[in-house]
Amino acid sequence: MHPNLWHPYFQAKTCPEPLKVRSAQGIWLELEDGRHIIDAISSWWVTLYGHGHPRIAAAIYQQAQQLEQVIFSGFTHEPAEQLAEALVKVLPPGLTRVFYSDNGSTSVEVALKMTYQYWVNQGQPRTTFLAFEAGYHGDTFGTMSVGARSLFTQAFTPLLFEVEFLPFPATWLGDETIDQKEAQAIATLQDKLTANPDRYAGVIIEPLIQGAGGMNMGRPQFLQTLAQHLKTAQIPLILDEVMTGFGRTGDWFACTKAQIQPDVVCLSKGLTGGFLPFAATVCTEAIYEGFFSEDPFKTLYHGHSYAGNPLGCAAALAAIALMQEQPEAFQRLEALHLQHLNSLQACPMVEKLRVTGTVAALDIIQPTQGMPTSQSWANSGLDAFGWNASDLDASVADILTHQPSTKTGYLAQVGPFIRQRALELGCLLRPLGNVLYILPPYCISEAELAQVYGIIQQILNECR
Ligand code: PMP
Repeated sequence: MHPNLWHPYFQAKTCPEPLKVRSAQGIWLELEDGRHIIDAISSWWVTLYGHGHPRIAAAIYQQAQQLEQVIFSGFTHEPAEQLAEALVKVLPPGLTRVFYSDNGSTSVEVALKMTYQYWVNQGQPRTTFLAFEAGYHGDTFGTMSVGARSLFTQAFTPLLFEVEFLPFPATWLGDETIDQKEAQAIATLQDKLTANPDRYAGVIIEPLIQGAGGMNMGRPQFLQTLAQHLKTAQIPLILDEVMTGFGRTGDWFACTKAQIQPDVVCLSKGLTGGFLPFAATVCTEAIYEGFFSEDPFKTLYHGHSYAGNPLGCAAALAAIALMQEQPEAFQRLEALHLQHLNSLQACPMVEKLRVTGTVAALDIIQPTQGMPTSQSWANSGLDAFGWNASDLDASVADILTHQPSTKTGYLAQVGPFIRQRALELGCLLRPLGNVLYILPPYCISEAELAQVYGIIQQILNECR
Protein backbone atom coordinates (compact mmCIF):
# COMPACT_ATOMS: atom_id res chain seq x y z
CA MET A 1 0.00 0.00 0.00
CA HIS A 2 1.16 3.54 -0.65
CA PRO A 3 3.09 4.79 2.37
CA ASN A 4 1.16 8.06 2.49
CA LEU A 5 -2.38 6.72 2.21
CA TRP A 6 -4.97 5.61 4.74
CA HIS A 7 -7.96 4.00 3.01
CA PRO A 8 -11.54 4.01 4.38
CA TYR A 9 -13.00 0.81 5.84
CA PHE A 10 -9.67 -0.84 5.33
CA GLN A 11 -7.50 -2.70 7.83
CA ALA A 12 -4.11 -2.29 6.18
CA LYS A 13 -2.62 -5.06 8.27
CA THR A 14 -4.93 -7.80 6.99
CA CYS A 15 -6.52 -6.51 3.78
CA PRO A 16 -5.03 -7.26 0.36
CA GLU A 17 -3.27 -4.54 -1.62
CA PRO A 18 -5.79 -2.05 -3.06
CA LEU A 19 -6.28 -2.57 -6.78
CA LYS A 20 -5.00 0.37 -8.77
CA VAL A 21 -7.53 1.72 -11.27
CA ARG A 22 -6.27 3.54 -14.35
CA SER A 23 -9.54 4.59 -15.91
CA ALA A 24 -13.21 3.77 -16.12
CA GLN A 25 -15.83 3.88 -18.86
CA GLY A 26 -19.49 2.86 -18.57
CA ILE A 27 -19.65 -0.22 -16.36
CA TRP A 28 -15.96 -1.06 -16.85
CA LEU A 29 -13.01 -0.34 -14.61
CA GLU A 30 -9.61 -0.61 -16.21
CA LEU A 31 -6.89 -1.63 -13.78
CA GLU A 32 -3.28 -0.58 -14.06
CA ASP A 33 -2.28 -4.15 -14.91
CA GLY A 34 -4.57 -3.98 -17.95
CA ARG A 35 -7.44 -6.08 -16.56
CA HIS A 36 -11.02 -4.96 -17.16
CA ILE A 37 -13.58 -5.44 -14.39
CA ILE A 38 -17.35 -4.92 -14.39
CA ASP A 39 -18.35 -2.49 -11.66
CA ALA A 40 -21.44 -4.39 -10.47
CA ILE A 41 -21.86 -2.22 -7.36
CA SER A 42 -21.61 1.21 -9.01
CA SER A 43 -18.51 2.03 -6.94
CA TRP A 44 -20.06 2.33 -3.46
CA TRP A 45 -23.48 2.86 -5.03
CA VAL A 46 -22.85 6.24 -6.66
CA THR A 47 -22.41 5.70 -10.40
CA LEU A 48 -25.79 5.97 -12.13
CA TYR A 49 -25.25 6.28 -15.88
CA GLY A 50 -21.83 4.74 -16.05
CA HIS A 51 -18.31 5.96 -15.40
CA GLY A 52 -17.05 8.91 -17.38
CA HIS A 53 -20.39 9.82 -18.95
CA PRO A 54 -19.48 12.49 -21.51
CA ARG A 55 -22.52 14.67 -20.81
CA ILE A 56 -21.73 14.99 -17.10
CA ALA A 57 -18.01 15.44 -17.78
CA ALA A 58 -18.78 18.21 -20.28
CA ALA A 59 -21.17 19.96 -17.86
CA ILE A 60 -18.48 20.01 -15.17
CA TYR A 61 -15.87 21.29 -17.62
CA GLN A 62 -18.09 24.09 -18.85
CA GLN A 63 -19.05 25.12 -15.33
CA ALA A 64 -15.40 25.06 -14.21
CA GLN A 65 -14.54 27.63 -16.85
CA GLN A 66 -17.21 30.00 -15.60
CA LEU A 67 -17.48 29.64 -11.82
CA GLU A 68 -15.81 26.78 -10.00
CA GLN A 69 -16.62 27.70 -6.40
CA VAL A 70 -17.97 30.55 -4.34
CA ILE A 71 -18.98 30.99 -0.70
CA PHE A 72 -22.64 30.00 -0.43
CA SER A 73 -23.59 32.10 2.58
CA GLY A 74 -24.61 35.55 1.43
CA PHE A 75 -23.99 34.58 -2.22
CA THR A 76 -25.89 32.46 -4.67
CA HIS A 77 -25.53 31.38 -8.31
CA GLU A 78 -27.50 30.10 -11.27
CA PRO A 79 -26.58 26.38 -11.05
CA ALA A 80 -27.62 26.25 -7.37
CA GLU A 81 -30.98 27.86 -8.14
CA GLN A 82 -31.59 25.69 -11.19
CA LEU A 83 -30.76 22.52 -9.29
CA ALA A 84 -33.02 23.46 -6.36
CA GLU A 85 -35.88 23.99 -8.83
CA ALA A 86 -35.13 20.71 -10.60
CA LEU A 87 -35.08 18.77 -7.31
CA VAL A 88 -38.31 20.31 -6.08
CA LYS A 89 -39.95 19.33 -9.39
CA VAL A 90 -39.00 15.66 -9.20
CA LEU A 91 -39.59 15.21 -5.44
CA PRO A 92 -43.09 14.80 -3.96
CA PRO A 93 -45.13 17.96 -3.47
CA GLY A 94 -44.45 19.82 -0.24
CA LEU A 95 -40.67 19.49 -0.29
CA THR A 96 -39.66 23.02 -1.22
CA ARG A 97 -36.40 24.00 0.51
CA VAL A 98 -33.02 22.64 -0.57
CA PHE A 99 -29.99 22.79 1.76
CA TYR A 100 -26.70 21.77 0.12
CA SER A 101 -23.79 19.94 1.68
CA ASP A 102 -21.19 17.50 0.36
CA ASN A 103 -21.72 13.83 1.27
CA GLY A 104 -24.35 11.40 2.46
CA SER A 105 -23.46 11.65 6.13
CA THR A 106 -23.70 15.43 6.12
CA SER A 107 -27.05 15.34 4.33
CA VAL A 108 -28.38 13.19 7.19
CA GLU A 109 -26.59 15.22 9.87
CA VAL A 110 -28.31 18.35 8.51
CA ALA A 111 -31.70 16.59 8.55
CA LEU A 112 -31.21 15.65 12.21
CA LYS A 113 -30.15 19.17 13.17
CA MET A 114 -33.01 20.71 11.18
CA THR A 115 -35.68 18.61 12.85
CA TYR A 116 -34.14 18.80 16.32
CA GLN A 117 -33.75 22.58 16.23
CA TYR A 118 -37.19 22.94 14.67
CA TRP A 119 -38.67 21.79 17.98
CA VAL A 120 -36.24 23.93 20.00
CA ASN A 121 -37.31 26.94 17.95
CA GLN A 122 -40.96 26.15 18.72
CA GLY A 123 -40.16 26.31 22.41
CA GLN A 124 -41.03 22.61 22.71
CA PRO A 125 -37.67 20.79 22.69
CA ARG A 126 -37.82 17.07 22.09
CA THR A 127 -35.19 14.73 23.38
CA THR A 128 -34.78 11.81 21.04
CA PHE A 129 -35.09 10.31 17.56
CA LEU A 130 -36.66 7.10 16.41
CA ALA A 131 -34.69 5.02 13.94
CA PHE A 132 -34.73 1.46 12.60
CA GLU A 133 -32.74 -1.56 13.69
CA ALA A 134 -29.90 -2.48 11.31
CA GLY A 135 -30.01 1.02 9.83
CA TYR A 136 -26.95 2.84 8.54
CA HIS A 137 -26.89 6.60 7.97
CA GLY A 138 -23.22 7.55 7.87
CA ASP A 139 -20.04 7.88 9.90
CA THR A 140 -20.36 11.25 11.65
CA PHE A 141 -21.39 11.28 15.31
CA GLY A 142 -25.01 12.18 14.66
CA THR A 143 -25.43 9.65 11.89
CA MET A 144 -23.67 6.95 13.91
CA SER A 145 -26.09 7.68 16.73
CA VAL A 146 -29.18 7.02 14.59
CA GLY A 147 -27.56 3.97 12.99
CA ALA A 148 -27.32 0.50 14.45
CA ARG A 149 -24.73 0.13 17.18
CA SER A 150 -21.97 -2.03 15.71
CA LEU A 151 -18.30 -2.80 15.50
CA PHE A 152 -17.99 0.42 13.51
CA THR A 153 -19.46 2.54 16.27
CA GLN A 154 -18.21 0.62 19.29
CA ALA A 155 -15.24 2.85 20.12
CA PHE A 156 -17.51 5.90 20.17
CA THR A 157 -20.46 4.50 22.12
CA PRO A 158 -20.07 6.86 25.10
CA LEU A 159 -20.24 9.85 22.77
CA LEU A 160 -23.35 8.79 20.82
CA PHE A 161 -26.70 10.30 21.75
CA GLU A 162 -29.56 8.07 22.74
CA VAL A 163 -31.92 6.86 20.05
CA GLU A 164 -34.85 4.44 20.20
CA PHE A 165 -35.06 1.74 17.55
CA LEU A 166 -37.98 0.11 15.74
CA PRO A 167 -37.81 -3.25 13.95
CA PHE A 168 -37.36 -2.95 10.18
CA PRO A 169 -39.86 -5.25 8.43
CA ALA A 170 -37.65 -6.83 5.78
CA THR A 171 -39.09 -9.03 3.07
CA TRP A 172 -38.09 -11.17 0.07
CA LEU A 173 -39.63 -13.16 -2.75
CA GLY A 174 -42.15 -15.64 -1.39
CA ASP A 175 -42.06 -14.22 2.17
CA GLU A 176 -45.35 -15.04 3.88
CA THR A 177 -44.68 -13.33 7.18
CA ILE A 178 -44.36 -9.76 6.01
CA ASP A 179 -47.83 -8.62 7.09
CA GLN A 180 -47.07 -9.72 10.65
CA LYS A 181 -43.64 -8.08 10.65
CA GLU A 182 -45.05 -4.79 9.43
CA ALA A 183 -47.90 -4.91 11.95
CA GLN A 184 -45.40 -5.53 14.72
CA ALA A 185 -43.21 -2.59 13.69
CA ILE A 186 -46.25 -0.29 13.59
CA ALA A 187 -47.48 -1.61 16.95
CA THR A 188 -44.05 -0.85 18.48
CA LEU A 189 -44.25 2.66 17.04
CA GLN A 190 -47.76 3.17 18.38
CA ASP A 191 -46.78 2.01 21.86
CA LYS A 192 -43.93 4.47 21.92
CA LEU A 193 -46.04 7.36 20.66
CA THR A 194 -48.78 6.62 23.15
CA ALA A 195 -46.34 6.36 26.06
CA ASN A 196 -44.39 9.50 25.13
CA PRO A 197 -46.23 11.63 22.59
CA ASP A 198 -43.88 14.62 23.00
CA ARG A 199 -40.56 12.83 23.15
CA TYR A 200 -39.62 12.34 19.48
CA ALA A 201 -38.01 15.03 17.32
CA GLY A 202 -38.32 12.86 14.22
CA VAL A 203 -38.25 9.38 12.73
CA ILE A 204 -35.52 8.42 10.28
CA ILE A 205 -35.59 5.48 7.88
CA GLU A 206 -33.80 4.21 4.79
CA PRO A 207 -36.95 3.80 2.71
CA LEU A 208 -37.54 0.52 0.81
CA ILE A 209 -33.90 -0.64 1.06
CA GLN A 210 -31.60 -0.65 4.07
CA GLY A 211 -28.19 -0.58 2.37
CA ALA A 212 -25.18 -1.35 4.56
CA GLY A 213 -27.36 -3.28 7.04
CA GLY A 214 -27.66 -6.04 4.42
CA MET A 215 -29.76 -4.79 1.50
CA ASN A 216 -32.88 -5.45 3.57
CA MET A 217 -35.92 -4.64 1.47
CA GLY A 218 -39.26 -3.30 2.64
CA ARG A 219 -42.64 -2.75 1.01
CA PRO A 220 -44.10 0.58 -0.11
CA GLN A 221 -47.25 -0.08 1.93
CA PHE A 222 -45.20 -0.12 5.13
CA LEU A 223 -43.86 3.33 4.32
CA GLN A 224 -47.40 4.52 3.64
CA THR A 225 -48.64 3.27 7.02
CA LEU A 226 -45.60 4.73 8.78
CA ALA A 227 -46.11 8.10 7.09
CA GLN A 228 -49.81 8.15 8.03
CA HIS A 229 -49.09 7.45 11.70
CA LEU A 230 -46.41 10.13 11.85
CA LYS A 231 -48.64 12.67 10.14
CA THR A 232 -51.34 12.03 12.75
CA ALA A 233 -48.76 12.28 15.56
CA GLN A 234 -47.21 15.38 13.89
CA ILE A 235 -43.71 13.96 14.01
CA PRO A 236 -41.39 14.72 11.07
CA LEU A 237 -40.52 11.78 8.84
CA ILE A 238 -36.92 11.89 7.56
CA LEU A 239 -36.14 9.70 4.56
CA ASP A 240 -32.49 8.84 4.08
CA GLU A 241 -32.55 8.43 0.30
CA VAL A 242 -28.77 8.71 0.02
CA MET A 243 -28.67 5.27 -1.59
CA THR A 244 -32.28 4.83 -2.78
CA GLY A 245 -32.54 8.19 -4.56
CA PHE A 246 -32.31 8.86 -8.28
CA GLY A 247 -33.78 5.73 -9.78
CA ARG A 248 -32.27 3.03 -7.58
CA THR A 249 -35.68 1.69 -6.52
CA GLY A 250 -36.96 1.68 -10.10
CA ASP A 251 -38.73 5.00 -9.54
CA TRP A 252 -37.20 8.44 -9.11
CA PHE A 253 -37.14 8.08 -5.33
CA ALA A 254 -38.41 5.59 -2.77
CA CYS A 255 -40.90 8.26 -1.66
CA THR A 256 -42.28 8.73 -5.19
CA LYS A 257 -42.53 4.96 -5.57
CA ALA A 258 -44.43 4.67 -2.26
CA GLN A 259 -46.35 7.88 -3.01
CA ILE A 260 -45.70 9.38 0.38
CA GLN A 261 -44.89 12.95 1.39
CA PRO A 262 -42.01 12.98 3.86
CA ASP A 263 -40.95 16.10 5.77
CA VAL A 264 -37.24 15.80 4.99
CA VAL A 265 -35.32 13.88 2.31
CA CYS A 266 -31.53 13.30 2.33
CA LEU A 267 -29.82 12.96 -1.05
CA SER A 268 -26.24 12.28 -2.14
CA LYS A 269 -24.43 9.40 -3.94
CA GLY A 270 -26.27 9.35 -7.32
CA LEU A 271 -27.09 13.07 -7.13
CA THR A 272 -24.12 13.94 -9.36
CA GLY A 273 -24.29 10.67 -11.29
CA GLY A 274 -21.30 9.54 -9.24
CA PHE A 275 -18.94 12.28 -10.41
CA LEU A 276 -18.54 14.63 -7.45
CA PRO A 277 -19.07 14.64 -3.69
CA PHE A 278 -22.28 16.57 -3.24
CA ALA A 279 -25.47 16.34 -1.19
CA ALA A 280 -28.79 17.98 -0.51
CA THR A 281 -31.24 17.91 2.36
CA VAL A 282 -34.69 18.92 1.17
CA CYS A 283 -37.44 19.90 3.63
CA THR A 284 -40.95 21.27 3.76
CA GLU A 285 -41.84 24.93 3.96
CA ALA A 286 -43.21 24.29 7.48
CA ILE A 287 -39.79 23.23 8.75
CA TYR A 288 -38.11 26.13 6.95
CA GLU A 289 -40.59 28.56 8.51
CA GLY A 290 -39.66 27.22 11.94
CA PHE A 291 -36.28 28.94 11.41
CA PHE A 292 -37.52 32.10 9.64
CA SER A 293 -37.17 34.69 12.39
CA GLU A 294 -35.50 37.87 13.60
CA ASP A 295 -34.21 35.94 16.58
CA PRO A 296 -30.57 34.93 15.83
CA PHE A 297 -30.96 31.84 18.01
CA LYS A 298 -33.46 30.46 15.51
CA THR A 299 -30.93 30.34 12.64
CA LEU A 300 -29.61 27.00 11.37
CA TYR A 301 -25.90 27.48 12.08
CA HIS A 302 -24.65 24.76 9.82
CA GLY A 303 -22.64 25.06 6.63
CA HIS A 304 -19.77 23.48 4.76
CA SER A 305 -17.03 25.25 2.81
CA TYR A 306 -18.14 23.55 -0.38
CA ALA A 307 -21.89 23.92 0.18
CA GLY A 308 -23.62 24.54 -3.14
CA ASN A 309 -20.42 23.97 -5.10
CA PRO A 310 -21.23 25.05 -8.69
CA LEU A 311 -19.45 22.03 -10.20
CA GLY A 312 -21.56 19.69 -8.08
CA CYS A 313 -24.71 21.56 -9.13
CA ALA A 314 -23.74 21.37 -12.82
CA ALA A 315 -23.00 17.63 -12.56
CA ALA A 316 -26.32 17.04 -10.77
CA LEU A 317 -28.27 18.99 -13.40
CA ALA A 318 -26.67 16.92 -16.16
CA ALA A 319 -27.38 13.66 -14.27
CA ILE A 320 -31.02 14.62 -13.70
CA ALA A 321 -31.37 15.46 -17.40
CA LEU A 322 -30.08 11.96 -18.25
CA MET A 323 -32.62 10.41 -15.91
CA GLN A 324 -35.40 12.43 -17.49
CA GLU A 325 -34.33 11.44 -20.99
CA GLN A 326 -33.87 7.74 -20.28
CA PRO A 327 -36.11 6.64 -17.41
CA GLU A 328 -36.35 3.18 -18.98
CA ALA A 329 -32.66 2.71 -18.09
CA PHE A 330 -33.57 2.37 -14.39
CA GLN A 331 -37.15 1.16 -14.86
CA ARG A 332 -36.19 -1.94 -16.86
CA LEU A 333 -33.69 -3.48 -14.44
CA GLU A 334 -36.15 -4.96 -11.93
CA ALA A 335 -37.65 -7.35 -14.51
CA LEU A 336 -34.17 -8.41 -15.65
CA HIS A 337 -32.97 -9.02 -12.09
CA LEU A 338 -36.12 -11.06 -11.43
CA GLN A 339 -35.46 -13.37 -14.36
CA HIS A 340 -31.96 -14.08 -13.10
CA LEU A 341 -33.06 -14.46 -9.48
CA ASN A 342 -35.69 -16.95 -10.57
CA SER A 343 -33.04 -19.14 -12.11
CA LEU A 344 -30.93 -18.87 -8.95
CA GLN A 345 -33.88 -19.95 -6.74
CA ALA A 346 -33.03 -23.58 -7.35
CA CYS A 347 -29.57 -23.19 -5.82
CA PRO A 348 -29.58 -24.74 -2.32
CA MET A 349 -27.06 -22.23 -1.02
CA VAL A 350 -29.19 -19.14 -1.42
CA GLU A 351 -32.27 -17.81 0.31
CA LYS A 352 -34.25 -14.61 0.74
CA LEU A 353 -33.85 -13.59 -2.90
CA ARG A 354 -35.08 -10.06 -3.28
CA VAL A 355 -35.23 -7.18 -5.71
CA THR A 356 -36.26 -3.55 -5.59
CA GLY A 357 -35.79 -1.70 -8.85
CA THR A 358 -32.14 -1.74 -9.84
CA VAL A 359 -30.95 -3.55 -6.69
CA ALA A 360 -31.01 -7.33 -6.27
CA ALA A 361 -29.79 -9.26 -3.24
CA LEU A 362 -29.76 -12.71 -1.67
CA ASP A 363 -28.41 -14.39 1.43
CA ILE A 364 -25.84 -17.14 1.13
CA ILE A 365 -26.58 -19.90 3.58
CA GLN A 366 -24.64 -22.78 5.02
CA PRO A 367 -24.86 -25.81 2.72
CA THR A 368 -27.33 -28.28 4.16
CA GLN A 369 -26.13 -31.41 5.97
CA GLY A 370 -24.61 -33.95 3.67
CA MET A 371 -23.67 -31.45 1.02
CA PRO A 372 -19.95 -31.54 0.43
CA THR A 373 -18.16 -28.30 1.17
CA SER A 374 -15.95 -27.62 -1.75
CA GLN A 375 -12.23 -27.55 -1.32
CA SER A 376 -12.15 -24.74 -3.82
CA TRP A 377 -13.15 -22.04 -1.37
CA ALA A 378 -12.20 -23.81 1.83
CA ASN A 379 -8.61 -23.91 0.55
CA SER A 380 -8.83 -20.74 -1.43
CA GLY A 381 -5.94 -19.05 0.31
CA LEU A 382 -8.08 -16.42 1.96
CA ASP A 383 -5.37 -15.95 4.52
CA ALA A 384 -2.86 -15.32 1.79
CA PHE A 385 -5.17 -12.53 0.63
CA GLY A 386 -5.60 -11.37 4.18
CA TRP A 387 -9.35 -11.86 4.11
CA ASN A 388 -10.77 -13.55 7.10
CA ALA A 389 -13.62 -13.32 9.55
CA SER A 390 -12.23 -10.13 11.00
CA ASP A 391 -12.34 -8.27 7.68
CA LEU A 392 -14.39 -5.24 8.65
CA ASP A 393 -16.22 -4.59 5.44
CA ALA A 394 -16.83 -8.21 4.59
CA SER A 395 -18.87 -8.76 7.71
CA VAL A 396 -20.71 -5.46 7.86
CA ALA A 397 -24.19 -6.92 7.59
CA ASP A 398 -23.46 -9.45 10.25
CA ILE A 399 -22.06 -6.78 12.48
CA LEU A 400 -24.92 -4.38 11.94
CA THR A 401 -27.71 -6.85 12.39
CA HIS A 402 -26.24 -9.01 15.13
CA GLN A 403 -23.53 -8.85 17.71
CA PRO A 404 -20.00 -8.70 16.31
CA SER A 405 -18.55 -12.03 15.24
CA THR A 406 -21.70 -14.13 15.55
CA LYS A 407 -20.94 -15.71 12.21
CA THR A 408 -17.85 -17.78 12.02
CA GLY A 409 -16.50 -20.35 9.60
CA TYR A 410 -18.52 -20.70 6.45
CA LEU A 411 -20.75 -17.64 6.74
CA ALA A 412 -17.94 -15.34 7.77
CA GLN A 413 -15.69 -16.50 4.95
CA VAL A 414 -18.09 -16.91 2.08
CA GLY A 415 -18.37 -13.14 1.47
CA PRO A 416 -14.62 -12.55 1.16
CA PHE A 417 -14.34 -15.66 -1.00
CA ILE A 418 -17.00 -14.37 -3.40
CA ARG A 419 -15.32 -10.99 -3.55
CA GLN A 420 -11.98 -12.55 -4.41
CA ARG A 421 -13.34 -15.01 -6.98
CA ALA A 422 -15.50 -12.37 -8.62
CA LEU A 423 -12.45 -10.16 -9.14
CA GLU A 424 -10.56 -13.07 -10.64
CA LEU A 425 -13.51 -13.61 -12.99
CA GLY A 426 -13.67 -9.93 -13.94
CA CYS A 427 -16.39 -8.50 -11.72
CA LEU A 428 -16.48 -6.16 -8.72
CA LEU A 429 -18.85 -7.62 -6.11
CA ARG A 430 -18.56 -6.73 -2.45
CA PRO A 431 -20.84 -8.88 -0.31
CA LEU A 432 -22.06 -7.51 3.01
CA GLY A 433 -21.23 -10.45 5.22
CA ASN A 434 -23.17 -13.32 3.67
CA VAL A 435 -25.44 -10.97 1.70
CA LEU A 436 -24.60 -10.86 -1.98
CA TYR A 437 -26.03 -7.94 -3.90
CA ILE A 438 -25.92 -6.52 -7.41
CA LEU A 439 -26.32 -2.77 -7.81
CA PRO A 440 -25.11 -1.91 -11.32
CA PRO A 441 -24.91 1.36 -13.23
CA TYR A 442 -28.10 1.85 -15.27
CA CYS A 443 -26.20 1.63 -18.55
CA ILE A 444 -25.45 -2.08 -18.05
CA SER A 445 -26.65 -4.08 -21.05
CA GLU A 446 -28.75 -7.24 -20.80
CA ALA A 447 -25.73 -9.28 -21.94
CA GLU A 448 -23.45 -7.66 -19.36
CA LEU A 449 -25.95 -8.25 -16.57
CA ALA A 450 -26.21 -11.87 -17.68
CA GLN A 451 -22.41 -12.00 -17.48
CA VAL A 452 -22.52 -10.80 -13.85
CA TYR A 453 -25.12 -13.43 -12.95
CA GLY A 454 -23.10 -16.04 -14.85
CA ILE A 455 -20.10 -15.22 -12.66
CA ILE A 456 -22.27 -15.47 -9.54
CA GLN A 457 -23.63 -18.83 -10.67
CA GLN A 458 -20.14 -20.10 -11.34
CA ILE A 459 -18.90 -19.00 -7.89
CA LEU A 460 -21.90 -20.55 -6.16
CA ASN A 461 -21.20 -23.80 -7.99
CA GLU A 462 -17.62 -23.66 -6.74
CA CYS A 463 -18.80 -23.07 -3.18
CA ARG A 464 -20.80 -26.27 -3.14
N1 PMP B 1 -27.05 6.94 4.23
C1 PMP B 1 -27.09 5.81 3.52
C2 PMP B 1 -28.41 5.11 3.34
C3 PMP B 1 -25.94 5.28 2.95
O1 PMP B 1 -26.00 4.14 2.25
C4 PMP B 1 -24.71 5.98 3.12
C5 PMP B 1 -23.41 5.48 2.52
N2 PMP B 1 -23.31 4.15 2.27
C6 PMP B 1 -24.73 7.16 3.87
C7 PMP B 1 -25.90 7.62 4.40
C8 PMP B 1 -23.46 7.94 4.10
O2 PMP B 1 -23.04 8.50 2.92
P1 PMP B 1 -21.50 8.97 2.75
O3 PMP B 1 -20.70 7.71 2.70
O4 PMP B 1 -21.48 9.74 1.47
O5 PMP B 1 -21.17 9.82 3.94
